Amino acid sequence: MWAFIKGYCKRNGLLTLSVIAVVSGCALGFFLRSLNLSSQAKIYFSFPGELLMRMLKMLILPLITSSLMSGLSAMDTKASGRLGVLTITYYLWTTFIAVIVGIILVLVIHPGKGTEKEGHKSGSGPVMTSADALLDLIRNMIPANLVEATFQQYRTDLVPILTSSAVGSQANYVYVMPDYHNPQLGHPVFLELTPAPEVKYKIVPGNSKGMNVLGIVIFSGTMGLLLGKMGERGAPLVNVCQCVNECVMKIINAAMWYFPFGIVFLVAGKILEMHDPAHLGEKLGMYFLTVMAGLFVHGLILLPLFYFVITRKNPFTFIRGLLQALVIALATSSSSATLPITMKCLLENCGVDRQIARFVLPVGATINMDGTALYEAVAAIFIAQVNEYELDFGQLVTISITATAASIGAAGIPQAGLVTMVIVLTSVGLPPADITLIVAIDWILDRFRTMINVLGDALAAGIMCHLCKKDFEKTAANSSRRDTVIS
Ligand code: ASP
Repeated sequence: MWAFIKGYCKRNGLLTLSVIAVVSGCALGFFLRSLNLSSQAKIYFSFPGELLMRMLKMLILPLITSSLMSGLSAMDTKASGRLGVLTITYYLWTTFIAVIVGIILVLVIHPGKGTEKEGHKSGSGPVMTSADALLDLIRNMIPANLVEATFQQYRTDLVPILTSSAVGSQANYVYVMPDYHNPQLGHPVFLELTPAPEVKYKIVPGNSKGMNVLGIVIFSGTMGLLLGKMGERGAPLVNVCQCVNECVMKIINAAMWYFPFGIVFLVAGKILEMHDPAHLGEKLGMYFLTVMAGLFVHGLILLPLFYFVITRKNPFTFIRGLLQALVIALATSSSSATLPITMKCLLENCGVDRQIARFVLPVGATINMDGTALYEAVAAIFIAQVNEYELDFGQLVTISITATAASIGAAGIPQAGLVTMVIVLTSVGLPPADITLIVAIDWILDRFRTMINVLGDALAAGIMCHLCKKDFEKTAANSSRRDTVIS
């Protein structure tokens, strides 16, 4: 047994180091909490982790553009059309299933029961509707300025209007929309204010900042398809994209050795920042377990089952090849930041075709978030239970649809799901300010749901590789013919 463990660790050195880094980061974080470090000291301490996030984020743009442009250029229109339709259908289907799993579990476990809070504070919150979310999604698909799209993302914000009575006295956490350029790793910002209902909000469309990955995916995909149609005239640009792609993969390989070190500080820094877990009540604990159970059922039972039924291959062998990406997802809480590592794992460990991974992964990191959708449905119903607010069947259907849509609209960055949850809550008349009830543990749930988001994208790539094998064999032949022409 010991020999087996030793052999395994030797073969999977980097992965083993990353897992050790997560555990050491937790231990170090809890130890340092007891030392009551100053906020300046915390910033210095988090610095190596911040560098890790910056490295990953730096690679997203060149990876997505070069992958999609070179990947799709090598496919014929019919093959890419089929792949596109199958991928989007699969993504929507699995996200919806995730929501259903969440709804069933939260209705059965009923984590919000036995609350001392009375009545339903109907209409006490701000209004951000599903229509706002839809408009944001469409705005994001068509970036007005491509350069701007690399740092600007349309996302309707709820900005609190602070009245003098809203500041100070009784502390409570009120959600303020995330500042994606927050120097501290781009986490959402929370202000300590008076109780939520006293804070008024206004809606500011397209206010938040962050890379518009969806717009970049759409533009690069279209360019890739057109380059493919141009044949030899498009070959020089395709060649450039292939070179960029190769360089990015080389940078990832080199940067991987920094990751375990960065992860220790990233995780420890987060634990230093977190609010005191002693304040968590029994209901919040049950809510945590409900989300975790849902993620477990969806990620480790249903998704592998779909994979097995469609491909007839062992899903856990596939998942084993992804472990490095899952650890990075756990450490960073960002499926976009994990994208370069997921790509590497799929190509090197899981044997997924390059062309298929290049399309399925970037699209998935943008729109396919099973973990987020499940969590949004559970959280919304939990908040209804805490408010002793009976949801009828129609409202459950509304939650299932808005949670699916909200997860599609969420960016692959830390705690983006908390932002889009406002849409789910307002769709059934629940007070959005009540997200304060779940904020304290959101950062940890975010890590696990990000793992499921990444797992969902990767399994989808495996499934698409199986389904579109024939198409890609033809395309591979085309591309090697083109490579010969180029060389
Ligand atoms: N952090 C998640 C991701 O990057 C999104 C979320 O659920 O907040 O996939």
